[in-house]
Amino acid sequence: MALTAGGCRDLRKYMDDPQVADIFGKLISGKSGYKTIIDKDKPVPMCKSCGLKLLGDEKFCPECGTKVEAIQPQQDS
Ligand SMILES: [Zn+2]
Repeated sequence: MALTAGGCRDLRKYMDDPQVADIFGKLISGKSGYKTIIDKDKPVPMCKSCGLKLLGDEKFCPECGTKVEAIQPQQDS
């Protein structure tokens, strides 16, 4: 498999592959096993309407305009 260095290609779709993510981490950090951008332990906020992945600080979905509901910490009632 070949990774194209540089350029402005969107590599995010490749990041679903953990092996690629590991390689990518090495490229970025020079360290083996370094995890970049993606932290799979964190819930990714998504638009309920269109499924767009959000950064988490949006008030409204930039794609469809649906109000984004913040991820609430679990309540123990
Ligand atoms: Zn949306």
